Amino acid sequence: MIPLKTFVSEHRAANLLAQIRWRDGVYCPRCRAESVIRYGSYRVFQRYLCKDCGRTFNDKTGTVFEHSAVALRKWFLAVYAYIRFNTSIRQLDVEIEVSFKTVYRRVQRFLRALDAPRITLEGPVEIDELYVNAGKKGRERDGRSRSRGLSTRGRGTYHEDKPPVFILADRGTGETYLHPAKAAEESMIRLLLDDRQQESLSVYTDGFRAYEPLDEDDAFDRQYVVHGDGEYADGDVHVNTCESHASLARRWLSPHRGVSKDNLTRYLRALQLRKRVRRKPGDKALKTILETAL
Ligand SMILES: [Zn+2]
Repeated sequence: MIPLKTFVSEHRAANLLAQIRWRDGVYCPRCRAESVIRYGSYRVFQRYLCKDCGRTFNDKTGTVFEHSAVALRKWFLAVYAYIRFNTSIRQLDVEIEVSFKTVYRRVQRFLRALDAPRITLEGPVEIDELYVNAGKKGRERDGRSRSRGLSTRGRGTYHEDKPPVFILADRGTGETYLHPAKAAEESMIRLLLDDRQQESLSVYTDGFRAYEPLDEDDAFDRQYVVHGDGEYADGDVHVNTCESHASLARRWLSPHRGVSKDNLTRYLRALQLRKRVRRKPGDKALKTILETAL
């Protein structure tokens, strides 16, 4: 259920912000001191005075929601709809009656605050790439071939506005990671597979040549499947989990046409967050979304 009450009451939104933001106690956002006292209010927000540095602050100070004339409840609705329903910014500006530019900037600020997921691999790990049409900001998608045949695989690079996104599906932990890269190269693959718990990590890949050097390395037990021939060396050796996440990522990115390649990491972090809240009821989902950015 959508947490509607929070989206219509600024008081409720302010209370929720304070509850989440100060979950480990109130501290001064400027000097980190905990010796603070309540000091009146700023609109519906509690104001505080820091006894260490003598400056005042309120519940919004230093958060992604500060310095905005737009009601907090509207920003809560915006980030909720964005993560939960993958609502485009073009649609959000209509829903909350704020200009496109204002929504765009605030949503980007929210996305920048999302933490990078830490990769710790247990294995076996499926690894695969997808190539995203992502140019410079505001530019339309190019009309180049969408062919996924072997001949074009691995050709997409950041410089050609077709950056690769690596997908790692760790069957040991059940976690999936999406990681944009400048190019699909051996060095990048090694970096991604570096944080592992096992001496020798089982890795399942397709036949793409950038994975071949793993065969020579004792740190990896690589098995691969060639796309499309239907011949599997072993029933477990496949990259199907990666493929389903690749199509999920494509669908996630599709409402944000012309997504800038420089923003790709943020959009994909938003997708990771979406997966975390997918099965949660509305109020818990909103809480998790805000916790991640506050
Ligand atoms: Zn202070």
